[in-house]
Amino acid sequence: MARIAVLLMGPPGVGKGTQAKLLAEKFGFRHIATGDILREAVRKRTKLGKLAKSYMDKGQLVPDEVMLGLIDEVLAETDSDVILDGYPRTVVQAENLEPTLNRHGFVLKQAVFIDVPDDEIVRRLSARRICPKCGAVYNLLTQPPKNDEICDNCGTKLIMRDDDRPEVIMTRLRVYRDQTKPVLDYYKSRGLLKIVSGEGNIEEVHQRLLNVLGLKQL
Ligand SMILES: [Zn+2]
Repeated sequence: MARIAVLLMGPPGVGKGTQAKLLAEKFGFRHIATGDILREAVRKRTKLGKLAKSYMDKGQLVPDEVMLGLIDEVLAETDSDVILDGYPRTVVQAENLEPTLNRHGFVLKQAVFIDVPDDEIVRRLSARRICPKCGAVYNLLTQPPKNDEICDNCGTKLIMRDDDRPEVIMTRLRVYRDQTKPVLDYYKSRGLLKIVSGEGNIEEVHQRLLNVLGLKQL
């Protein structure tokens, strides 16, 4: 039987990574997060890792064919179902991904987009605080420090990064939605797109994902 591939998409702050990990733990999917496999290849200094790093060192984006090559290598050594997290981001990437999946015996089952209204994403992401001294990361909503805005580790007053300011988050969201819209349309036209609400707690979102993926709670 063919193994299945599920794509998990969604803007930053919707809990995509958390949900992918949960599905991986409970159902044995391999969780393929493109950022992680990129870092791993660079760290291991593989051929593609070194090539990717040469672009990153110049401040350039890693080209599609390098990223797809990295995914190809991971698929080649995977014998379970897979969840791709954060890929594809463009229609060209989407079109090239599927032959690669198929070549390794995977069938693309569904592209699932987790969505949360922009104002909720801003609320979640703008709650992030970091410690300027030791680098610890907190979230006032989900992972608050013991004392109000003070680092648990070193007692320093926490700060908000410029990237976490609401206006910056809104700009990032607009860019993400503009970029991703054609990808969603592409999967929708092929009957593969499911949109799931990312509102509510982790377990509620997990249940919605199980429903659209036709998986039963273990
Ligand atoms: Zn600290």
